[in-house]
Amino acid sequence: MRRYSRSYVGRIRVLSDKVANQIAAGEVVERPASVVKELLENSLDAGSTYIRVEIENGGRRLIRIADDGCGMLRDDALLAFERHATSKLHDVKDLLSIATLGFRGEALPSIASVSRLLLETRSPDEQTGTRVEIAGGKIVVCDEIARGGGTTISVRDLFFNVPARKKFLRSEQTELAHIASLVTHYSLAHFGKTFEMWNGGANLLHATPVETMRERVFQVFGGDVLDDLIDLGERSAMLQVMQMPEPDEPPRRFVLRGFVSRPQVQKNNRNSIFIFVNGRLIRDRLMLHAISAAYHNLMPQACFPFALLFLECDCEEVDVNVHPSKTEVRFRHQSWVHDFVRDAIREQLMQSRPAPSFVQRSASPTPQAAAVLPYSDFSQVMQDEDRDAAGGGVALPEFTMQPPPAPAPRFDFGDTGIAVNEPSKTSGVKLRVPDTHGGFPVDSIPAEHSMVRIGELRPMGQLHNSFIIAAGIDGLWIIDQHVAHERILFEQVLAQQAAGRVEMQQLLMPMILQLTADQQIEYARIADELHASGFDTEPFGNRTIAVKAAPAAVGLGDLERVILEILEIAEHELRSVSLADLRRGIAASIACRAAIKINTPLDQRKMEWMLRSLAATEYPMACPHGRPVALQYGTREILRAFHRI
Ligand code: ADP
Ligand code: MG
Repeated sequence: MRRYSRSYVGRIRVLSDKVANQIAAGEVVERPASVVKELLENSLDAGSTYIRVEIENGGRRLIRIADDGCGMLRDDALLAFERHATSKLHDVKDLLSIATLGFRGEALPSIASVSRLLLETRSPDEQTGTRVEIAGGKIVVCDEIARGGGTTISVRDLFFNVPARKKFLRSEQTELAHIASLVTHYSLAHFGKTFEMWNGGANLLHATPVETMRERVFQVFGGDVLDDLIDLGERSAMLQVMQMPEPDEPPRRFVLRGFVSRPQVQKNNRNSIFIFVNGRLIRDRLMLHAISAAYHNLMPQACFPFALLFLECDCEEVDVNVHPSKTEVRFRHQSWVHDFVRDAIREQLMQSRPAPSFVQRSASPTPQAAAVLPYSDFSQVMQDEDRDAAGGGVALPEFTMQPPPAPAPRFDFGDTGIAVNEPSKTSGVKLRVPDTHGGFPVDSIPAEHSMVRIGELRPMGQLHNSFIIAAGIDGLWIIDQHVAHERILFEQVLAQQAAGRVEMQQLLMPMILQLTADQQIEYARIADELHASGFDTEPFGNRTIAVKAAPAAVGLGDLERVILEILEIAEHELRSVSLADLRRGIAASIACRAAIKINTPLDQRKMEWMLRSLAATEYPMACPHGRPVALQYGTREILRAFHRI
């Protein structure tokens, strides 16, 4: 208590601007990438079409951003460093309809208070430009210069006067990685503009204006990454007037665009998820949750996709004034937005039914500028996957099927004296392939990497009594019989749960199960749900339950395991998990135990049944735990391997 005595607290005083700016800088300028973000946003707000970012030493020594935007008048150039000086907001009412990225007027004074900053700018309305030099918040120089239109801001020696802050900076590579990732993603949001990024004289990104975001993704990440992404196209929805507090408000339109990865691409953190709301890069728990929910049961728990989402909505639907760094937002209709985003992604995943290929893709023939971006999360995707696979984590299927090495095209007739109709008899003679096979109608081959046609597959046999080999017009397929069956049963159980009639089988003798204290508590909480999923159980003395009936699909031998597994799901997740998720967990457990095992011979009829039933599922690509069901060796890939195309 004594710590708070009057002598320690003292009298109230208004902080000087210098201190206030440094406090604000604590929130706005967390690391070099935050400086880049603020300056980039200013350049975009200034209507620039060309933005160049220059970095030295991970942004500690130098961050310079040059643009061709509207520039600043001399008076404004000085005013810009006053706290809460902004040209973007006049009235508190404007906060509701803010169309610019900045509005708080805090970034420049904050950055200037913790660095040595040089501003060079010229507005087309003035003959000469202005140069302002500031160190630790103090204006050192302000004079006239000759320069073209636009603005260049150079920030040197970040945190030179805040040693405590400086200590928290990570390695040069890490800071650069954050910056590179940020600039890259802003360049995606603004694909019609030119973005350049240089690090110590090396070009990391050069993206010229393109017409579509897809082209920009290709420019920035290259074709291989694009192949792993599913284009959401443009998904829009109207928030119904009925849900509005005032009935005569017009309906609000939400549009979602962007890309999400195929479920086979699995990351172990959320660092590859980029969300833009009205052009502003944000981190938002609600949106992150919606994305995870879209992949529920398509990807293992604790794995994350990569996603690039651009949500546009009425300014009034989203409050951007939540945090000084403007990286958080609050939606007016949170759960509506959550469900819209989740469903839009999930529908697209369902529609495109992406199948993993089991041919390792070769390196992109024309490496793109940003493919060499060393540290962006995206360019690491491929490497991460390799590492994950090595570390036993989840990654692309470990299967790779390579064509056998091609034999040297060499006909050796020894000394037989038979002349071969060739210009020379040296080895390495290349024989012209006689065209007796007929041209392969390449154009008729359907697009690869899609499971849309799985119902048309013809099973040919099993590999190791575990994998069904099947042929289709789009290539050769390998289907994991256990995982496929798991997906089929999972969806069946879900449907039965929803209809309230899970097929039960009475046990001849009730099965008695001992529970731990924790399990007992969980049991009490989910007993009803267990019943709805086909388990007829009742308490039977202290920490014991009797199981009288179980879903027909679960064998007696597996019953105990299934119930304990379900109690575990509940224990781990119920508190944060919805009823729907609990049901999915139960269904996944039942399906996994009931599905046919690997090492089980299947006759032709069973294999056909399996493929047909799989085709009828809503999402045939992954088991409820997120493992892939099928691998495809696409016809084009096969033709390529045989040198036919
Ligand atoms: P905010 O962006 O919230 O308005 P800032 O501190 O980031 O606040 O910038 C202050 C003001 O400086 C802006 O409102 C804008 O008028 C001006 N400004 C900053 N950067 C630029 C730029 N690159 N081009 C033109 N004007 C700029
Ligand atoms: Mg700003």
